[in-house]
Amino acid sequence: MRIHEYQARELLADAGIPVPAGAMVQTVDEAQARADALLEAGAGGVVIKAQVHAGGRGKAGFVKIVKSAREARDAAKFMLSHRLVSPQTPPEGLEVKRLLVAGAVQIAKEYYLAITVDRGRNTNTMIASAEGGVEIEAVAERNPDAIRKVPIDPLLGLQPYQARELAFGLGFKGKQVSQAVRVMMRLAALFVETDASLAEINPLIVTPPTAEHPDGQLLAIDAKFTFDDNALFRRKRIADLFDPAEENPAELRANTFGLSYVALDGNIGCLVNGAGLAMSTMDIVKLHGGEPANFLDVGGSATEEAVTEAFRIILGDDKVQGVLVNIFGGIMQCDKIARAITAAAKEVGFEVPLVVRLEGTNVAAARRILEEARAEIPTMVAASDLTDAAKKVTAAVGGR
Ligand code: GDP
Ligand code: MN
Repeated sequence: MRIHEYQARELLADAGIPVPAGAMVQTVDEAQARADALLEAGAGGVVIKAQVHAGGRGKAGFVKIVKSAREARDAAKFMLSHRLVSPQTPPEGLEVKRLLVAGAVQIAKEYYLAITVDRGRNTNTMIASAEGGVEIEAVAERNPDAIRKVPIDPLLGLQPYQARELAFGLGFKGKQVSQAVRVMMRLAALFVETDASLAEINPLIVTPPTAEHPDGQLLAIDAKFTFDDNALFRRKRIADLFDPAEENPAELRANTFGLSYVALDGNIGCLVNGAGLAMSTMDIVKLHGGEPANFLDVGGSATEEAVTEAFRIILGDDKVQGVLVNIFGGIMQCDKIARAITAAAKEVGFEVPLVVRLEGTNVAAARRILEEARAEIPTMVAASDLTDAAKKVTAAVGGR
């Protein structure tokens, strides 16, 4: 599960990591009022930031620094009425429904600081760079040595000596060092306490020196978190941050029926039982020149109703020009799938070619059900095995 930046900033602030003051707004009037209040309270400027589950906002023109409430209003108006397109969004971009209005800060230098799971090392790993800001992916490619990685012991957690070493390695000086160590230690604790799979501050900044802070101050001015869905049951505070408006509606619907569904770009709708079989089905479809429109695992114990819903979701996708059903019935009974196919045929209708490969538990009964319903499903073709099925559905949608 992902959250918005304004929510991430709240988590950081509560964990004791310094973050400039700000508030989430949903209208231009609120944006103007909040900007006015921040400027009244002495902020040198205000930053207006689109809140969507994607980065690259700065370059897309959806992070704007303004000096007056009037300009804040104009920036808010622009962001709430234009779709945000960045390398991290789908090509058609994302609608912006929420904005963050925060005090703008002066930046002397930008750093990158994150924690994520390193599956190769079987540990959480802190990742940091003195070349933070908007181009961290480019830094990783062009100059991988500029990115430091510190493995975190699963039992001991991040050790203060590791944080100090990293802070010196990043070039922090004077009082910046203890500030950086505090941020690192607190981020590491927050990562574990929230069951996060990614916690990223980019940029973590140092402000220019002042009389009061001759070494500048460290502040987090952008943050991104991803959480382990399987741990949400024990992290109510995190689960409550869920914003359904940012999710793919078909994926949400599938979720409520206990189906694992991921929308993809191709034109062959796939209905499969078991994640492993779903993966290999997609591989074999691609091997034969087809492109899957989705990943869909109905699981072993899905009800007929859930499987019918799965067909509704697949057939509701305009991109789908053919459907492939690949079931290896173990716990799943093939006749249940066959009944769901006939229900979907009656209710929605298969106007596109439907290739069915069934094997395993109750397959004879399933074949009988489909045979009897043949008149209602004229586009249905039986396949003998997975290769045959992949070839037939690819040919049916005009592929190889
Ligand atoms: P992203 O592009 O989606 O990662 O959005 P960020 O919040 O990281 O903003 C992009 C860039 O805008 C940052 O790297 C900063 O350079 C700049 N920026 C954001 N907030 C401020 C601010 O308060 N003051 C200044 N001077 N620059 C800012
Ligand atoms: Mn950023």
